Amino acid sequence: MHWGMAIDLKLCIGCNTCVVVCKMRNGTPKGVFWNRVLEEEVGTFPTARRVFWPVRCMHCEEPACVEACPTGASYQRADNLVVIDGEKCVGCRACILACPYDVRSLWDGDGGYFKDYITPFEEQAYKRHVAGAVQKCDFCASRLDEGLKPSCAEGCLTKAIVFGDLDDPQSDVSLALAEPRVRMRLREELGTRPSIYYLT
Ligand code: SF4
Ligand code: SF4
Repeated sequence: MHWGMAIDLKLCIGCNTCVVVCKMRNGTPKGVFWNRVLEEEVGTFPTARRVFWPVRCMHCEEPACVEACPTGASYQRADNLVVIDGEKCVGCRACILACPYDVRSLWDGDGGYFKDYITPFEEQAYKRHVAGAVQKCDFCASRLDEGLKPSCAEGCLTKAIVFGDLDDPQSDVSLALAEPRVRMRLREELGTRPSIYYLT
């Protein structure tokens, strides 16, 4: 079992729905985003266009963050998911510096989105996060345990995000990657072997 993702850049319209559903599902604190959509302008007028790059933890096969973590708080599961035990994290930021994809955040535990007021949603959601610890996307591990897809893959309006087991040749993600398309992973030259592929 090796969880992975294929993101079709031709289908992504940059709507940021995946960013919002991730926020809703994971209740990430103020200023913390486990999921972002980067924008790139390609070409020149009159044929210039924008390309949108949904980016989250790449769940690398060779995760630089795990290697850098001095306490074992960041670790890799047998299904290749890279996860964080917040209780073991000492907030040293070594993993943030080591990760080449800028997908980790340290939450200081301070406040919510509305000054001097924590909404009932925030009150519940923030209990799931450890103040002073680093956090990041876990491919919605609790949803995977229920047999569901990550929220971003479920919520994507254009079905640009395909998720599944990279070890299973019949999974949705393996079938998407088998199509005659150009595929790439970010910063492959670093040897981190990301589990997220982009179809260009
Ligand atoms: Fe670790 Fe960064 Fe790779 Fe995620 S993208 S597994 S945080 S090195
Ligand atoms: Fe792109 Fe889908 Fe995210 Fe919208 S929800 S930004 S189409 S990946």
